Amino acid sequence: LPIVALVGRPNVGKSTIFNRIINSRVAIVEDKAGVTRDRIYARAEWMGHEFILIDTGGITLDSGEIEEQIKAQAEIAIDEADVIVMLGDVTQHMTNMDETIAKMLYRTKKPIILAVNKADNPEQRTDIYDFYSLGLGDPIPVSGSHGTGMGDLLDAIVGEFGDKANQHEDDSIRFSVIGRPNVGKSSLVNAILGEQRVIVSNIEGTTRDAIDTTFTNDGQKYTIVDTAGIRRRGKVYEKTEKYSVLRAISAIEESDITLLVLDASTGIREQDKHVAGYAHDAGRGVIIVVNKWDLPKKDSTSMKDFENTIRQEFQYLDYAPIVFVSAKTGQRVPDILKLVKEVHDNQTRRIKSSVLNDLLLEATRITPTPLVNGKRLRIYYMTQVAVTPPTFVVFVNDPELLHFSYQRFLINQLRQNFDFVGTPIKILARKRK
Ligand code: GDP
Repeated sequence: LPIVALVGRPNVGKSTIFNRIINSRVAIVEDKAGVTRDRIYARAEWMGHEFILIDTGGITLDSGEIEEQIKAQAEIAIDEADVIVMLGDVTQHMTNMDETIAKMLYRTKKPIILAVNKADNPEQRTDIYDFYSLGLGDPIPVSGSHGTGMGDLLDAIVGEFGDKANQHEDDSIRFSVIGRPNVGKSSLVNAILGEQRVIVSNIEGTTRDAIDTTFTNDGQKYTIVDTAGIRRRGKVYEKTEKYSVLRAISAIEESDITLLVLDASTGIREQDKHVAGYAHDAGRGVIIVVNKWDLPKKDSTSMKDFENTIRQEFQYLDYAPIVFVSAKTGQRVPDILKLVKEVHDNQTRRIKSSVLNDLLLEATRITPTPLVNGKRLRIYYMTQVAVTPPTFVVFVNDPELLHFSYQRFLINQLRQNFDFVGTPIKILARKRK
């Protein structure tokens, strides 16, 4: 998905605009109170275009003057985003700091959209013309508090997307390696690449500061997404947790499969759970890789015990296979690619409608559809509409009647009958007309 970054000096209203944009998509996802306050990224949608929105203002260095903070935020936008939205504040007019930010943004070839916030009334909307002198094009007046101008801003944003969606249409299986710092991501990437005789290419990401590494193994092409993000270190903001989150999310979004790396010597930490959540939310394949398996003292049950802990801590990832490896000794490292290939086969599996409907008939016979307030759910037909992840539509009498538990039951039936290891499965209900 394209990444859109919001930049601007403090108090111009970045988080208000951020919330306006993510809520412009119909409120399907209910936001738990307090979540948005601290959220720096979200998926958003406008007129059928999905994108990821980041509020760079939420990424702050542990120390540093305002100037340094803003510089880091602008750099993040320049490095990570496909489209940059610079926000000004009409009530404060144009400030030196706005000019400083604009100067930093001139360096990028990425599209920049200038929006001026707090234009709540007509007089203010004319005041925005001050901002022309930034040289970033026509300012778009918006009001975060009233919600006006948001449509124009969103039109301008999605107008810059181009055909990025089709960028990776090749025969390579793309995977990313994510995890909290020091779990051994770089070591694993090196161990995997160390086994490969042919590295096809290191391709500079077309838009982002990322490097993808492609190689062939056993006749299959693989691409490790964003290996530079793993290897290269240096910018001041790279140590901030929110930035590493952002990096992980953009890598996940660019890949078919994510390797979630855990560290056997430290066990599972809170941060591992956050990272796991992003991998799951993206709907891609997930493989859990327990690294540093050379370190713990082991007996006959250690692996099973660790596995049980993982299953408890990451219940929503119940579909993800687990592999215990050591990047250091190379133990089971070759199994990783085999799993990647298997999961890819599974996430691109297509099941014929005739086979699905036999399964549906049998499933509803064993476990009748639920009766909700005296009304029975009827499922007439089931068909697969997408892969990565495999997505099925059931045509029903009333979509409201397909509760989570019956959906869960159908997913389990699919898993029992077909190999979907490593991939989430989606079921959507549609009313039969
Ligand atoms: P990253 O931050 O996740 O990329 O982690 P690194 O790859 O930089 O590894 C962090 C530290 O763990 C380094 O000191 C590595 O040498 C060490 N390390 C990585 N993998 C293993 C492993 O399988 N076994 C042991 N014993 N150490 C490892």
